[in-house]
Amino acid sequence: MTVDHGRLDELIARLKEQGFRLTPQRKAVLKVLANSVHHPSVEQIYRQVKKDFPMTSLATVYKTVTLLKELGEVLELGFADGSNRYDGRKPNPHPHLICVQCHRILDPDVVGWKDLPQALSDSTGFRIFSHRLDFYGICPQCQKRRKPKRRGAGRS
Ligand code: ZN
Ligand code: MN
Repeated sequence: MTVDHGRLDELIARLKEQGFRLTPQRKAVLKVLANSVHHPSVEQIYRQVKKDFPMTSLATVYKTVTLLKELGEVLELGFADGSNRYDGRKPNPHPHLICVQCHRILDPDVVGWKDLPQALSDSTGFRIFSHRLDFYGICPQCQKRRKPKRRGAGRS
């Protein structure tokens, strides 16, 4: 987990300015969100927070994430199978790389996508206020794991 105190401080300040109470559990949720690069689910955040605060309930985590979403401080990525994943580091829409094997989600550096909404708006007349740009595939780690067995090494 890379430590990003800048983002954590931002999230804390945002909740404080809105008048929300910052319990240690709530702070722990913010910490996980500020430091996760793999876009955790609520359950994954819950498991992390429980390591330090065993009394934390899933409902507390869920409520905190929902609150941050309402404040526009977390980006929710919903999927057809009902799983939701969260980006607390970059709350504005941006492209994602999604591994269909290990379900890791990464923020790639893509050049040029920031011009797309304006270009589409110009060419279609749509007033665009959001977008979703997902790239599905198999990550390098999973490709390594799936390498076919060498010849003569048992099953073909
Ligand atoms: Zn993978
Ligand atoms: Mn992201």
